[in-house]
Amino acid sequence: MRKPVIAGNWKMFKTVGEANSFWEAVSGATVDTEKVEAVICAPYLQLPSLVQSASGSAFHIGAQNMHEEQEGAFTGEISGAMLKDLGVTHVIIGHSERRQYFNETDDSVNAKTKAALEQGLTPIVCVGESLEQREAGDTETIVSNQVAAAFEGLTEEQVEKTIVAYEPIWAIGTGKTATADDANQVCQAIRETLLDLHGEEAANATRILYGGSVKPANIDELLTKEDIDGALVGGASLEAESYLQLVEAA
Ligand code: PGA
Repeated sequence: MRKPVIAGNWKMFKTVGEANSFWEAVSGATVDTEKVEAVICAPYLQLPSLVQSASGSAFHIGAQNMHEEQEGAFTGEISGAMLKDLGVTHVIIGHSERRQYFNETDDSVNAKTKAALEQGLTPIVCVGESLEQREAGDTETIVSNQVAAAFEGLTEEQVEKTIVAYEPIWAIGTGKTATADDANQVCQAIRETLLDLHGEEAANATRILYGGSVKPANIDELLTKEDIDGALVGGASLEAESYLQLVEAA
């Protein structure tokens, strides 16, 4: 019922030339768009050529961040309106690296999520606990509070369009994956939070992804879990071959 999503997050990797080579390697692949939503979230500079190449294909192109205002005197920033105009369809919001290094807060994540939805972009809202928080037994409380804050003020319809990515910070880029059962348990807690705050229909329709050292070797087990609807993938999305293996797995 919920179409799985495999979203690559290239972070600050790849030149335009490297992005084009990646595209050449994936463009011939057959992807069943009924069964999977394949997304590549690239740095801003790579978006124009990727959007153009991917037009009419099975792949969606996403950004990794955006400003909450649609235009204005914000030197160095990119707005949702600009992304939409370019043909970008998805945008990662509140990745833990942005929360950690660029002072993004639950409030800015909420404002950006609303701005993305206003532009008709699909937000991929990231939540997740640190190792300290996990060891203190606070994971579900932390993550549920992040979800509640990010979704505050959204209509049921907007909730359904938004994708959540549960990414435990200690599992990102470390090779440490949460076990599929642990990941599912937190994704289930996220769905319960959505159920409490936005009703059953929205909770059942919203896609919840797992992220953190996802690779071809562990994707199958993650995807068997009831509340995991795909993955947000960093490292393993940089190589065309492993990215396509993940898309095929879904
Ligand atoms: P990783 O990154 O797959 O390299 O752990 C995931 C992410 O940060 O989205």
